[in-house]
Amino acid sequence: MKLQADHIGPLAMFKIGVGPSSSHTVGPMVAAMDFRQRLEERVSTLANSDSLRIAVELYGSLSATGKGHGTDGAVCAGLIGLHPRFSDTQDIWAAMPNLIDSPEFKLGSAILKFNPDEDISWQEWLMDGKSLPHPNTIRFRLWQKDKILLEQITASVGGGFIEAIDPLTGQYLTSATEDKTVSLPYPFNTAAEFVAQCNQNDITPWQIIIANQEALGLKEAELRQQLDEILNTMERCIEQGLKTEGILPGGLNVKRRAKNLHAKMLSGQTSDRAANDLRPSVYAIAVNEENAAGGRVVTAPTNGSSGIIPSVWRTLREDHNLSRETLQNGLIVASAIGALVKTHASISGAEVGCQGEVGTSCAMAAAGATAMLGGTINQIEQAAEIGIEHHLGMTCDPIKGLVQIPCIERNAMGAVKALNAVALSLASDGSHLISLDRVLEVMKQTGLDMNQKYKETATGGLALG
Ligand code: SF4
Repeated sequence: MKLQADHIGPLAMFKIGVGPSSSHTVGPMVAAMDFRQRLEERVSTLANSDSLRIAVELYGSLSATGKGHGTDGAVCAGLIGLHPRFSDTQDIWAAMPNLIDSPEFKLGSAILKFNPDEDISWQEWLMDGKSLPHPNTIRFRLWQKDKILLEQITASVGGGFIEAIDPLTGQYLTSATEDKTVSLPYPFNTAAEFVAQCNQNDITPWQIIIANQEALGLKEAELRQQLDEILNTMERCIEQGLKTEGILPGGLNVKRRAKNLHAKMLSGQTSDRAANDLRPSVYAIAVNEENAAGGRVVTAPTNGSSGIIPSVWRTLREDHNLSRETLQNGLIVASAIGALVKTHASISGAEVGCQGEVGTSCAMAAAGATAMLGGTINQIEQAAEIGIEHHLGMTCDPIKGLVQIPCIERNAMGAVKALNAVALSLASDGSHLISLDRVLEVMKQTGLDMNQKYKETATGGLALG
């Protein structure tokens, strides 16, 4: 597959949204918003807008773990026009109970009936007797009495990205993120080409991405301003997580522990036998507890793996007094690695297991952090490769379908591994035997070979208790 120009952008990889899942919460919410737009157009053409009803079918992994991931609530929020980034998280989570109380909403002059309890259906792995185009597939329909007036099938492909599917052929339609016919100053499709562009042009990896983004119409000043907002949101998320106590929602009875761990760490009460810096773990846990509680988080590249990059960035900022520009440059480099994974393997737990989420995030963090600490492009590529290599084959088996166990602690481990990958790559000259491109091939094949029960279905592994 060819690297899609828009997918390389940091703003595509780091999206400010709402927890607990990018593929099962943010993606379905964006899909519902997208359907709402078409609904608006369709409804405005009707001579008679009586008896209109919406039906939503959730398939595959969205059905298997959607309840734990808040997919139904996210769909409700998107249908009534709320936005994962700009709407208040409390309003988002109030949308479904409100619709259950009063099962209709207004669109233009039309009233659309929609009762989440009756009109959201949880389907299996076949749609109309055929295999699904993607493990996370949704079908929206507008009915008028017994006639379908509008139908849309959408795949939530990971990281909050969606792709539309042709209802007749079951094939992907050209999405908003498909190739543009823009000629980029530094095109690359593989990690090897990325490294070569840097070395041949004697240019930093972030300068390559910035130049390519400018060619796509995004000015550096605007990019940096948005990256700053992303950094601020990551920081706020850590702070919120560090000061919040209580039990996470969903019925698993998981107690939030970031606040307590942080207090112990600050007062020196943590075990000195382990001689370990607890900060990366505590910061990552803080973010992922916020995510599990449906709070405001940034995909990095997904919600399930949203704790690793904020944690690594904060730890390094504290230790090295890094400038805002350096922190932004690190995000830019991390996004390039995420884009390569998304293109040649997957960032979706439902497609390839957790190697695609925590594994990818670890690689992105390792690469970005190596760049922030002055590593060469070869060391950056090596750090990313280490980050993925040691997550190959990692399954996704969230208990009760909630993004809590193993997800929260797994981010802590991912952050620690990322920092170790940075140390290993900076201590070498960047030459190594297995390339990042090769690891991505293996990751994809491993994901294809992985039994479905280990790919975000909560039907295997830890999910069995
Ligand atoms: S196990 Fe990994 S991939 Fe699965 S939901 Fe948790 S973080 Fe996401």
